[in-house]
Amino acid sequence: MSNKHKPNEETRLIHSDYVPPQGFVGLSTPVHHASTVVFGSAHAYRARREHIHEGYVYGLTGTPTTLALAQRIADLEGGYRAVLTPSGLSAITLVLLACLKQGDHVLVADNVYIPTRDFCMKLLTDLGVETTFYDPLIGQDIAALMRENTRLIWAESPGSITMEVQDIPSIAQIAHARGALVAIDNTWSAGLYFKPFARGCDISVQAVTKYIGGHADLMLGAATASNETLYRRIRDTASMLGLGAAPDDCFLALRGLPTLTTRLRQHQTSALAVATWLKQRPEIKKILHPAFTDCPGHNIWRRDFSGASGLFSVILQDKYSETAVDRMLDSLRYFKIGASWGGPVSLALPLDPHQVRTATPWREVGQLLRFSIGLEDPADLIADLEEGLARL
Ligand SMILES: *Cc1c(COP(=O)(O)O)cnc(C)c1O
Repeated sequence: MSNKHKPNEETRLIHSDYVPPQGFVGLSTPVHHASTVVFGSAHAYRARREHIHEGYVYGLTGTPTTLALAQRIADLEGGYRAVLTPSGLSAITLVLLACLKQGDHVLVADNVYIPTRDFCMKLLTDLGVETTFYDPLIGQDIAALMRENTRLIWAESPGSITMEVQDIPSIAQIAHARGALVAIDNTWSAGLYFKPFARGCDISVQAVTKYIGGHADLMLGAATASNETLYRRIRDTASMLGLGAAPDDCFLALRGLPTLTTRLRQHQTSALAVATWLKQRPEIKKILHPAFTDCPGHNIWRRDFSGASGLFSVILQDKYSETAVDRMLDSLRYFKIGASWGGPVSLALPLDPHQVRTATPWREVGQLLRFSIGLEDPADLIADLEEGLARL
């Protein structure tokens, strides 16, 4: 097209002279939206596949906003590079699909996030992948469950309902000796309090929805790999599945990062205060919080973790019925009833592990309550619980 021709208004509204400003420096990462990514030449476009893992190719594979967040999460986890997905669950299923194929066997912790279990039981089974659930406290005895075709061990530590802390270094040692990979759902630690790659994991997944997002207003997932080969396998699978992350959501997650340590410190302090108070209450039988000795794997938490977040469970005395527990939960003022966790508002949920455990049947009779301790004044939360327990 000749540069002498002056475009009409319709065209001018589409082709602006905007170039990203050179001299402007703000403190936040700008939001770059794109489906089309413009190439400098036809030749560069022809060669795009060679650059799919480095440069910008298409909106779905990343804009400067999404790739900046991916790298910052990979750095937080202590891994090589990360792939972002539209939710934590899609990061989990992405990793399972990238690592497993027909005829393979996967070992999955029995305390795993329930949708992870469902995916293994239904979709992976249909695809010809066999799942064995294992006792999360199994440690090096996992060797006995390894088969010729075991390609992956999936861990979640602590398990997000029953809170068992897993001996990841022992599991990783066995897995690697047999040529299998270890992937972990590291959402509870937010990547701050547990460094999965330093403990032998090959892949770490986080629901960015939870603590990194931190405000209960976005959905996002991240899968971080330990090395280039694994990263490419996950990246390529994400491309085939058409998974990407929205720049606006990534902006919100990037905005969560500078306050992550401060927020988590407060979640930790407040959760410890609430759990310590609950521990001396006669209505409570057990505190399932990794920092408490009641919690299975407490010693491993002390060895491998540098802190605790705000999510924990309790088991009530056997005598309280479901109806009584529901009445108590309904009466709480600051604790809201709803899924997810990691936000500023405290949450309380009744959860029933009896319905899901298979390798390690849940033998507790008392009702299990899970708390996500938010950023309210812990004294108010305790007062709220004190009134609630009185109604039991
Ligand atoms: C919430 C959660 C997920 C899934 O995250 P979404 O973003 O809600 O899909 C995965 N793992 C654990 C442990 C979770 O609690």
